[in-house]
Amino acid sequence: MPSRRTVLAAATLLPLAGGARPASAALKTAPKTAPKTAQDYYDRAAKLAGDDSVLKALVKALSPGLQMPAVQPVKPFKIFDDVAVVGTTFVQATALLTSKGVVLIDAMGSPDDAKKIIVPGLRDVGVNPAHIKYVVAAHGHDDHFGGAQYLADTYGARVMMHKADWDLIAAERPEHAPKRDLEISDGQKLTLGDTTIVFHHTPGHTPGTVSPIFPVRWKGRRHTAILWGGTNPPATTEAKRTNLTSVREAAVTMRRAGVDVELNNHGGADYGLTRIEQLRAGATKNPFIIGPARTQRFMKVMETMLRGRILQDQ
Ligand SMILES: [Zn+2]
Ligand SMILES: [Zn+2]
Repeated sequence: MPSRRTVLAAATLLPLAGGARPASAALKTAPKTAPKTAQDYYDRAAKLAGDDSVLKALVKALSPGLQMPAVQPVKPFKIFDDVAVVGTTFVQATALLTSKGVVLIDAMGSPDDAKKIIVPGLRDVGVNPAHIKYVVAAHGHDDHFGGAQYLADTYGARVMMHKADWDLIAAERPEHAPKRDLEISDGQKLTLGDTTIVFHHTPGHTPGTVSPIFPVRWKGRRHTAILWGGTNPPATTEAKRTNLTSVREAAVTMRRAGVDVELNNHGGADYGLTRIEQLRAGATKNPFIIGPARTQRFMKVMETMLRGRILQDQ
């Protein structure tokens, strides 16, 4: 296989041979050197992020040795006309408010979290928790499914997870694991009332991580959101490579779907916690609507950081 540098050099020469672009333009777009070390990739990601607070937070979240924030309550808030966030500074649950009930993405860490944070949190923003129809665990870690069975038992909600992560928790038998219920497959749609959610299988963080794409409204205008299901790079190199493939494929899916809103279930990873506070303080422009180009750059930063993490494993 030719080295990356050889490929880049050949690509740089192509426009010259065709005469379609002036040499200076072609040279400007080619990186001077291919990254050789993990740090080269981290530096490249930081450069891509520039002074963009969302992207800078992502670089930090994907850097080795991440420290999780201290757990503090987050005051519930409706970040869109039809999306509410409840949770703590560590992890959040996202409620999609449809005309026929609520789809809750993630359920925090325990039945107690559901009872003391999710249920009163939804009531705080005027949402009846009895209207939760589906609880989607974006992946099979306990900070995302812990309150699911409580919501199923209390309100009759159905619990959804990708097959691979139902299998994962069947094997690992973690505390607060929900009873096996509905399986999510790649590309599957869930329609509730006026809202259709498309689940994309984005394995890596866990084998069954899903990242849903769904419509949201802000001041009546429609936008398209993705909620990235699992951000922290997994331990093994093999899983990191799977994660990298998911990121690259999802970027293409997101471009096609016109995704212009980026959400995360760990709001410390993408400046989400600060963006909630900006909205609460009365921001007129919704900081979660970052537009298609910045959404793509977000994925490019994630890709670049993962390449660094994979190289650092060697
Ligand atoms: Zn996780
Ligand atoms: Zn988590």
